[in-house]
Amino acid sequence: MKASILRKTAALLLTGVLATMPGNLRAQDAKALFSSKETPFNSESPYAIGQHSRGCLAGGVALPESGPTWQAMRLSRNHYWGHPETIRFVQEVSRAATKVGWNGIYVGDLSQPRGGPVPGHASHQIGLDVDFWLLPPGRLDLSRGDRERISSMNVRSADQRSVNGNWTRSHHRLLEAVARDGRVNRIFITAPVKLQMCADAPARDRAWLGKIRPWWGHNTHFHVRLNCPRGARGCVNPDPVPRGDGCDEAIWWVTEALEPPDPDAPAPKPKPPIRLADLPPQCASVVAAP
Ligand SMILES: [Zn+2]
Repeated sequence: MKASILRKTAALLLTGVLATMPGNLRAQDAKALFSSKETPFNSESPYAIGQHSRGCLAGGVALPESGPTWQAMRLSRNHYWGHPETIRFVQEVSRAATKVGWNGIYVGDLSQPRGGPVPGHASHQIGLDVDFWLLPPGRLDLSRGDRERISSMNVRSADQRSVNGNWTRSHHRLLEAVARDGRVNRIFITAPVKLQMCADAPARDRAWLGKIRPWWGHNTHFHVRLNCPRGARGCVNPDPVPRGDGCDEAIWWVTEALEPPDPDAPAPKPKPPIRLADLPPQCASVVAAP
């Protein structure tokens, strides 16, 4: 695409001129549309458009599949795209990992080339979410095939109430370093890790612990959500985490949350798929571009 066309497209994006999209496109399943796109939407400036769980990405860039301190895993998914700030952040986290004694880090899913709803995730839609594996890398010269085959490491006990022997002090130090980063909005991790970190953190200076958020799954990877980059237009910042270390609240996850469901309770309704019309209007131009 010529630079002038690029500029025009970016301008359209910003003003939302293409907000009136045809009805048949509006009704389409956004996940199917975005996951079929193998290349980014070119844009002179990057745009994380909308919310982490309702949006898309323009001007996304790829994480280089290998670097001195990282490897991107499961390359076949093509989920290694992000806002340029995210790509920089991932590389910095990989260097932080060397400070806790790891070789670097294995990187899981970021976003699709144009963001949007992703198979297997509720968020990861605007290029500002990253999954990192909890398996400290053995080698950083894995082939593409190796990266499809090897699995990460589970750090949770079989009864789901505590961490197992795979959880180490170096994991704690790495997650703490990431949580202390001002760009980080929150980190999702299995509740037993949260509780172990609560137990191991000193009594003072615990505000960063509030960003460590218990969530379902997340026992083989941790998920980092970044705030909108400074000055980003069209990006909806996630709420900051509540004040406090969040440790008392986390107990629910290893008690009530694990009780068997009431057999008489009605089954939860499956969520309808996200349609293109449910995303910010600019996302229609992002996904419609060749
Ligand atoms: Zn994730």
